[in-house]
Amino acid sequence: MQFEIVTIFPGFFAGFFEHGIVRRAQTESLVTVNVHDLRTFTHDRHRTVDDRPFGGGEGMVLKPEPLAEALGSMGIAAKAARANEENSAATRAATRVILMSAQGRPFTQAVARELAGVERVVMICGRYEGVDERINQLYCDMELSIGDYVLSGGELAAAVVLDATMRLIPGVLGNEASGEFESFGVADADIATDESGVPRSQYGAGGLLDYPHYTRPAEFDGMRAPEVLMNGDHLQIRRWRREQQLRKTLANRPDLLERAALNEEDRRLIQAIRKEAGTAIP
Ligand code: SAH
Repeated sequence: MQFEIVTIFPGFFAGFFEHGIVRRAQTESLVTVNVHDLRTFTHDRHRTVDDRPFGGGEGMVLKPEPLAEALGSMGIAAKAARANEENSAATRAATRVILMSAQGRPFTQAVARELAGVERVVMICGRYEGVDERINQLYCDMELSIGDYVLSGGELAAAVVLDATMRLIPGVLGNEASGEFESFGVADADIATDESGVPRSQYGAGGLLDYPHYTRPAEFDGMRAPEVLMNGDHLQIRRWRREQQLRKTLANRPDLLERAALNEEDRRLIQAIRKEAGTAIP
């Protein structure tokens, strides 16, 4: 899989690429990342990438021409031209052009999964007040926001999308399955055990948040790790983890429960947790 990032700060990504899974995926050639310096695609002495907004108001706007030229250098034509191309469906499936934008649709694990199936993901990083809207309309397949807050540039957002997407590409994570079994996962509880029947480290999330994790020492700062995790009873461990997932989701992201795959036992647990917390049961 290939990522292309268009930015006025190409140096921004250096540290990010040098560590952990992002680095390993690149050295193992599972992922290629090309960073394109927008200023390369300017032709004036000052290498101007921005200009004042039409209609007045604060700040500057990234000009359309250098961005169009940067995309052109990657062989990406405007959407209308792409639609006319022979086998355009195949071309579209192979490449996604994304505008990083606070006005975009929310980036979620589901979007990451969708992008992990695409051959080439192109991300345009805005700066200042943003990017001339015609670039969005003419070239971009989607606008993505990483959250309801405003960043000063699209670079952090592009790094977030790259990281979350890349780790879902087969072979990138050490444990093939772990992407399915963590927070926001889609795993089916029935297959969420390894050969020995031990629940996987990130067991059957089913749209819930992950359960809490513990490692040695068994006692730390006067706190013992939960006994249930040490007794080797896989059924008990599984039940405990599921309950913890429900507790955490209920406390931090109750909105996720509405869409999560819940069984009868889950519902009973939720009622019990709510009762315990003194919350009214709907
Ligand atoms: N005027 C814009 C904010 C511009 S911030 C607005 O109010 O929506 C400058 C750039 O940072 C944007 O062009 C975008 O590329 C990036 N950016 C800011 N917040 C973002 C977010 N939540 N998600 C993704 N990109 C974001």
